[in-house]
Amino acid sequence: MNYKQLFSTIPEKRPVIIAGPCSAESEEQVLTTAKALAEQGIKIFRAGIWKPRTKPNSFEGVGAKGLAWLSQVKAATGMKVATEAAMPKHVEEALRHSIDLLWIGARTTTNPFAMQEIAEALRGVDIPVLVKNPVIPDLDLWTGGLERLQQAGISRLGVIHRGFSVYGNKLYRNRPHWQLPVELRRRMPDLLFFCDPSHIGGQRNLIAPIAQQAMDMNFDGLMIEAHCCPDKALSDKKQQLTPQELQTVVQQLVIRDTAEINGLSLFRNRIDEIDNRILELLANRMEISKEIGEYKKAHNLSILQSARYKELVERMRTNAQNLGLDADFVQVLAQLIHEQSSREQMKVMNSD
Ligand code: PEP
Ligand code: MN
Repeated sequence: MNYKQLFSTIPEKRPVIIAGPCSAESEEQVLTTAKALAEQGIKIFRAGIWKPRTKPNSFEGVGAKGLAWLSQVKAATGMKVATEAAMPKHVEEALRHSIDLLWIGARTTTNPFAMQEIAEALRGVDIPVLVKNPVIPDLDLWTGGLERLQQAGISRLGVIHRGFSVYGNKLYRNRPHWQLPVELRRRMPDLLFFCDPSHIGGQRNLIAPIAQQAMDMNFDGLMIEAHCCPDKALSDKKQQLTPQELQTVVQQLVIRDTAEINGLSLFRNRIDEIDNRILELLANRMEISKEIGEYKKAHNLSILQSARYKELVERMRTNAQNLGLDADFVQVLAQLIHEQSSREQMKVMNSD
């Protein structure tokens, strides 16, 4: 068997798709979604049973009873089934119910104690395991978790790139930092590489372009959240597709297989990511301008304070030079940003 093949029954053709709801919610929701996905040729079904929620009092998954629903999916559709394990107890229960594939969630990969305990629970078991990136962009934490599993004898091992947490205004729910999976692949070329555009984008309309970026970067597969009624989902409702929408996304993917395009794609993805960050920073900056507008309004201060403006331009010119940027270009940019900032302040001050 090819080392990279997840299951001998599933062709290695790119992209391998893992699809299914964020969470298993009811027997009906699981089976309806699974049957619709199976009809579209999806071979691996995902559903979270134990949900690591950031905040308390959110839906935390149906627990072990959902494993029986996954067994029903296997019997009814022939699909392989996958769920998330965050603790040794989850591993044991999943294995007892013949779950075919386990993934480790981003919050769990962040914790070496948890990874070691999971690795121990998996020692000597032949099951494919996919490790999501940790929530912070720390490559060693990611490889450390993978090495723990390798040392426990897991050989069908892969990763899921699902982006990294950031604070403040953001275009994506989780920032991709494409260089990290690329560097990981350089270091550990035998792993299977999946991308999870649902958790990177955080909203439906971003899933197709992110999935395409991942294909252009030669990822082996995609994990995409799909739900029979996304608007009623108990978790991650904004980022789940209907099975029909998922089919459209998959059909529209362009799979290019040449090394040159992949190299260029990395540069383009890095540029796009930086452009996104410039936009995020501008949005953060404009928000502060509005707060300044509120402050000036409350304290009867004027909008234009020319000493401050001169100082700002001078500082930008000096910093630009220190960074090897053209100072005149940066001055024009600073002027544009400043003008827009003043307009934002003005809007606030003129409102009642
Ligand atoms: C999930 O796949 O539903 C999940 C909880 O993902 P992550 O660990 O990437 O947040
Ligand atoms: Mn989810």
